[in-house]
Parts: sequence; C-alpha cells; structure tokens
Amino acid sequence: MALIDDITIRVAAGNGGDGGRSFHQNHGTIKSTGDGGNGGNGGSIYFQGTTNLTDLNEFRFRKVIEAPNGVKGMNKNLDGKKGEDITVLVPLGTTIIDTATQIAVEILEKDKPILIARGGHGQTGNHDRRLPHFAEEGLAPDQIGERKELHLVLNLIADIGLIGLPNAGKSSLLATLTRAVPKIANYPFTTLEPNLGTMDKVVLADIPGLIEGASEGRGLGIQFLKHIQKTKVLLHCIDSTDENVYKTYQTIRNEFKEYDPTLLEKKEIILLTKIDLVDEETLKKRKTDLKKTKREILTVSIYNQESIDDLKKFLLNPELISVTE
Ligand code: GDP
Ligand code: MG
Repeated sequence: MALIDDITIRVAAGNGGDGGRSFHQNHGTIKSTGDGGNGGNGGSIYFQGTTNLTDLNEFRFRKVIEAPNGVKGMNKNLDGKKGEDITVLVPLGTTIIDTATQIAVEILEKDKPILIARGGHGQTGNHDRRLPHFAEEGLAPDQIGERKELHLVLNLIADIGLIGLPNAGKSSLLATLTRAVPKIANYPFTTLEPNLGTMDKVVLADIPGLIEGASEGRGLGIQFLKHIQKTKVLLHCIDSTDENVYKTYQTIRNEFKEYDPTLLEKKEIILLTKIDLVDEETLKKRKTDLKKTKREILTVSIYNQESIDDLKKFLLNPELISVTE
C-alpha cells in the first residue's frame, strides 16, 4: 500500500457532563434539598508511540477523532459517568504539530501516553444546596473539551531505503526480502509512493522516482527525495547490466547534492543487482568501476537464493542500522 507520512487530522476531546439539578422532598417538611450528582469529565485524547506501526495510512480513514462526552449528573447524588479516554497509536518518530499554535510534540518513546487534547470538566451538581439552583445556559468554559487540528508528520519511515534508477530491481528485491507486494514491471515509475516491507524487525522502503533532474522536479520530482531523508541506511541498487555503473551512481548522488547535501552523508551501501544476467568477468569489471565510490559493494540476484540469504544476513546485522547519521 502506498505510504502516508504526512497528514492533517482533527481531534475533539469530550465535553464535561452537566451537573445534576434535582430536588428531593425532605420527609415531614416542605423543604427540598438538591441531590443532583456531578457531571462526569469528558474523555481526553492521548497519543502513544508503537513499534507495530510504520506509517500514518490509517488516518486517511480517521480524519476526525472524538472522545465521548461526560454524562450528566443524576438525582440521588449519582455522578455522571466519565467519557472514556482515547489512545491513538502512532509510529515512533511521529511529530504532532498543533496547527493553531505550531507547538510540536515528537513521539519518541513507546507505550507512554501523551496528552494531546484534554477532556472538559464535569460540572458540579446541586447536591446539598437548599435553594433551587438553575442550570446556566450553554457550556461553562472549563466544560468544553479541547479541539485541535493536528498535522502529523512521520520523520522516520524505514531502517533501510532501497534507492536507485527506475528498473534497478528495487521493487523485486523488496518483494523477495519481505512479504510486501509492490508493483514490478520493466518500465520506469511503476511505483508512485514508497512501498514498505518488514524483514523480522527491520523495515525496508522501496523508494521510487529517482532520475536525473528529480531534484528540479523532473519525473516524479522531489517528493521522493524527501522520503530518503527518513531512512537510516541507503541501499543503492545498480543494475549490473548497466555499462556505466559509476556514472549511474554519480547521477543519483548529484540529485542528492542538488536537493539536500546532507543526504550525501547518509550511510550508503552499493548493491549490484540482476547478477544472473552478467558473466563473472563483467561483474568484476562493474565492481572495479565502482571502487572509486569507496563504498561497500554487495551483489544479488532475485533468482539466486544464496545471494538473497547473504543479503538478508547483512541487512539484519543490528550494527548496520544502529548508526544514526
Ligand atoms: P525498480 O524500478 O527498481 O523497482 O525495478 P523492478 O523491481 O520493477 O524490476 C525491473 C525489472 O527487472 C523487472 O522486469 C524485474 O523482473 C527485473 N528484475 C529485477 N530483479 C532481477 C534479477 O535479479 N534478475 C533478473 N534477471 N531480472 C530482475
Ligand atoms: Mg519499482
């Protein structure tokens, strides 16, 4: 499924319940006493980080999140029920920006709820009041649940980003290494948004759209370059049938330089793909041509299980993605 890493939603905490306004006739007198219970507090909305999510896709269908209101206080001093709190799960590394104040909160810890919209206070009932006491019209200011428009931005989409020119074999690799089912075809721009897949706990992103001129908006443009920033390590896929592997490497690096030179500092490993299509001598030559890059060079074919197993082992090494650059 296409990846959503940037979306605006609304949240509305519950309003507090009204206080009860009820009277009970005292025995043997004409006096009556108030016995209205307190209104319950409105439900609050919390956000909490989880490692079980890697995208913000569900918010496409969840653009408004509301917590229930507190219930009004009842007679016989019965307090109204509190509106239940809601906890919204988001991937770790999500930034939540209140669009009205621009105050931002980044969710970095898992399983720790962070209050984003507070529920309104339940109002006091008329219990123990001797005189009739009438409810005011409308909601008291502290009774109203907080309402906010939130801009959610995911800062890290994957541990490993598969990059390279169209046709380099990125989507095929993602499908082979993980259970993801990206579109695969022998023409450019099959993939419109990054596809994600997980291999054990490691998240891989297939990042499409890199061509010469992407940084100037050519092809699918810079929207894809921005995804690259959100991965920890880059696996630069280069087709081993390409006769100018070094030039191809440089083409991508130039796009980085134009768009955001800090991308050049990311940890990057070269992966020569489709090695079933070249002979040993050619493969050797490709490796020699790429020596100038001073990068580690790996090789793979999706039709060679041994090479896939080796690549998996390499990618699952915890040291690989422990680097934060
Ligand atoms: P992407 O544009 O980088 O995502 O490339 P794709 O994964 O869509 O692959 C482009 C073409 O190369 C498809 O026709 C694939 O079937 C083919 N392909 C991918 N990997 C290999 C490989 O290891 N060996 C061979 N022979 N073909 C491959
Ligand atoms: Mg693709």
